[in-house]
Amino acid sequence: MKYFKPYILLAIILVITFSLIGCSVNAPQEEPQISEETEKQEEANQEPEPQPEEPSVDPASVNANEAGQIMILEWHVIGEKEDRWARTYTNFRKDLETLYEKGYRLVSLRDVVTNNIKVEAGYTPVVLTFDDGTAGHFRYIEQGGKRIIDPNCAVGILKAFAEEHPDFGLEATFYINYYTPFGQKDSWQDKLREIVAMGMDLGNHTVNHHKLNTLSKEKVEEELGKMVEMVQEVVSGYELDTLALPHGINPKDVNWAVSGEYNGIKYHNKAILLVGSGPIKSPVVKGFDPTKLPRIQVFQEEFDKWLNYFDNNPDKRYISDGDPDTISIPADQQDKIDESLLGDKKLYIYN
Ligand SMILES: [Zn+2]
Repeated sequence: MKYFKPYILLAIILVITFSLIGCSVNAPQEEPQISEETEKQEEANQEPEPQPEEPSVDPASVNANEAGQIMILEWHVIGEKEDRWARTYTNFRKDLETLYEKGYRLVSLRDVVTNNIKVEAGYTPVVLTFDDGTAGHFRYIEQGGKRIIDPNCAVGILKAFAEEHPDFGLEATFYINYYTPFGQKDSWQDKLREIVAMGMDLGNHTVNHHKLNTLSKEKVEEELGKMVEMVQEVVSGYELDTLALPHGINPKDVNWAVSGEYNGIKYHNKAILLVGSGPIKSPVVKGFDPTKLPRIQVFQEEFDKWLNYFDNNPDKRYISDGDPDTISIPADQQDKIDESLLGDKKLYIYN
């Protein structure tokens, strides 16, 4: 038996080897061929290709529901202490981990309100917002004679997390006021430019953080327009076009917040954010109103409440079909859709 063993072993190894070669030759072959052909077609065809009737991934296979709700999360102070309006650096990092593990992926607020949501099939978009331009949002520190982003501030934590998890994305909006956003006098302009250069956004939180319902139209326009002017002076060409209402309070006429003019500078807000207190409707659902978008404040109890809500009610959650040009919804959600909100997107209903 001793002498036969090596032959038997050899035979087994050969069988395994051939079957593995068989797998590696057969199985993946079809996929690269398709993508190569697609690439060639894209190169060859100058004309736009016809819009696909169906998304590339079968929406039913990922339970896509683009009529579901989306969370716009909101942080104020991020620092060493935890309380109702403050989150620690450690907990903020954990928030990102929790979102990632539960299948949430970052999108910009602008992409949500313009119905241009790009998220991998089967995942849920989430928007991050930071109010008041506090120091813990963005801090520079000196290290070895060089200025670096403090790894222990929101921007530093977001950046590191995105580097470790590139599929999570790096999207957030920082709602700032006029006087020294983020607290370091000599470098706040660089911070505004760096946020935009990283692909994140700046948002309008007004000059003085007043309750806008106490102000005249002219004063409201100054509070908003002067921010637009300031940001344009620092970040050339950048459009400051979303607003987080101070204290969540609208002016007497909401139209003053939507658009206006100050010092020859016109502003128009694509999205207006409230302070509380729940997820938003999908941008294609009846009643979606970009001038009154609720948010969810991130302190432990509230954050857990909404994460649990979506865990326990998966049919309420927005789940992407992976194709920003197609809006996929299960047939039982069809009544929710306002077709006038679809724009140039195709509606795909499945059973
Ligand atoms: Zn505020």
